[in-house]
Amino acid sequence: MEFAALAAAFREIEAQSSRIRVTTRLAELFRSAPGDAGILPYLLQGQLGPPYAAPDLGLDEQRIALALATAARVPIAEIERLYDQQGDLGLVAESLLAPSSGPGPTVREVYDRLRLIAATVGIGSAVEKVRLLRDLLGRTGGDTARYLIRIVEGRLRLGVGDATVLDALSIVSAGNLSARPRIARAYGLCADLGVVADRLLSGGLSALDEIHPTPGRPVLPALAGRLPSASEVIRRLGPVIAEPKYDGLRLQAHKDGDRVWLFTRRLEEVTGAFPEIVGAVRGQVAAHQAILDGEAVGYEPRTGAFLPFQQTARRRRKYRIAELEASFPLRYYLFDLLLLDGQDLTSAPQRQRSGLLDSIVRSEPSAAIDVAPRVETDNPRELEVFVAEMLRRGLEGAVAKRPDAPYEAGTRGLHWVKLKREHGESLLDTFDLVVLGYDRGRGRRARLGIGSLLCGVYDPERDRFRTVSRVGSGLTDDEWLRLREMLDASATPARPSPVDSLVEPDVWVEPRYVLEVVAGEIIRSPRHTCGMENGQPGYALRFPRVSGFRFDRRPVDATTQAEVVELYRLQRARSTGDIFPTGYDAATGSTRPDRAER
Ligand code: ATP
Repeated sequence: MEFAALAAAFREIEAQSSRIRVTTRLAELFRSAPGDAGILPYLLQGQLGPPYAAPDLGLDEQRIALALATAARVPIAEIERLYDQQGDLGLVAESLLAPSSGPGPTVREVYDRLRLIAATVGIGSAVEKVRLLRDLLGRTGGDTARYLIRIVEGRLRLGVGDATVLDALSIVSAGNLSARPRIARAYGLCADLGVVADRLLSGGLSALDEIHPTPGRPVLPALAGRLPSASEVIRRLGPVIAEPKYDGLRLQAHKDGDRVWLFTRRLEEVTGAFPEIVGAVRGQVAAHQAILDGEAVGYEPRTGAFLPFQQTARRRRKYRIAELEASFPLRYYLFDLLLLDGQDLTSAPQRQRSGLLDSIVRSEPSAAIDVAPRVETDNPRELEVFVAEMLRRGLEGAVAKRPDAPYEAGTRGLHWVKLKREHGESLLDTFDLVVLGYDRGRGRRARLGIGSLLCGVYDPERDRFRTVSRVGSGLTDDEWLRLREMLDASATPARPSPVDSLVEPDVWVEPRYVLEVVAGEIIRSPRHTCGMENGQPGYALRFPRVSGFRFDRRPVDATTQAEVVELYRLQRARSTGDIFPTGYDAATGSTRPDRAER
């Protein structure tokens, strides 16, 4: 496919607010260029590879402007003048470069050329990168140049999230969304939409079954759902395996012979930051190949007491690693095994995975790796006691796991349920909300230029952010100022396309930053779009306050709309005494919808 055809699709998608139309357009795009399916998902998200391995072009704005000036044969001062006027280098490129008359570059040529620019390093590379970009720009014009520049600048923000691409791929292969779970599962196992799209378009749905976890390529981590009490957990899941809930850094360790990799929850490779864990994976894991899941927690070397999350997080550094290793040693608690010597275990039941994990990890006193202890129970009281015991030991609570569940890569469901502090009367847990905009503030806060934040949750079904609350307290003046600066850097002139909102804040911002928010209660509200369906009111948080920054979270990792709706239901069930979960079948007496749905 010619890159011009892709640019035309970008333009349509950018102007389109209906998600269904965007999805259909993407499906057409994949169908019309099956040979490019492996790179389209990257380009649609303005990347040159999967998020964990997308290379950086290494071109700053000045060099991009220089390449444009030489391609358009105008002085750099002219580029700067137009940029000041238009505020967007993409538009400047569009106005300066006429649509080319000859055949333009293909999508593959553009992609290869950009990868070449990224790979050009060493002496003289800056000049060479500019030359390569200039040549490419010289073969484009009009909106083709506009979108090329936006990709190069890392500013192609079409609002096409992973969920939309997965929907489009399902439409390509099944004509509807029925293939979505199978495609999403394959995506969870390789974390690479390019690989999934390529396999699907070349070999159909069955080709996805050949995607397995591979050492060196991260798997999307399984995530835990929430329920308000131990009895609700047992009622809905049946017997569970309960494990301590450590409050540290989620790490996925990969081993292939002597090679070891460590990935964070956001799939960043952090192997270099944790030498003691790398050494322990080599020494304590009795397997040639393994992919392990666990949580690393810092501890005080003299007393052995666990450190709070913030201190553990300080270990994620690039420098002075040895020094930090001595003063903040880590213990890596393993709780899952996804691959063992070439065998993909993600479909195996939790109980089997846990058992195999025990069998390959050599326990050694005061070693850097340990397996998380576990108990199996179907007794709510015993589970409560376990949670209380974990809290007493300074841990965050417990995670209850369904013994027969597979490893649900990238999915938050009730296969794992987190039970934190006392889930008694008050509102359960915190929410991770995405900042969508802010008001400038009144009175004292007007001096800071920021009043309340418009915050939202994520709806993975529709790949949209939906508002759930205005949040105006919880931070110090300094923190408000810092946050405002960050938000201003990602302000947008209008409501960003993936946002559903009835509220109009003074400033819209791109959904980028995630905050932790505590709230007193969830209420139904006609003002917020979270959970708003068929003319019914939405859901909102009452008495919200910011309780922390979660800059380690991507917007798509925020609390989901479904979680808020579920928590509302549980909150009501507690107050009305209606303890039956959704899907309770009076005829059969079945109170385990999650097992039946599986
Ligand atoms: P998320 O569920 O999005 O990770 P979060 O970071 O706010 O949310 P919690 O909601 O508190 O974390 O709980 C889930 C996290 O708990 C897991 O992602 C994992 O990092 C951590 N964790 C600690 N111990 C365990 C365990 N035994 N089993 C599974 N996860 C655990």
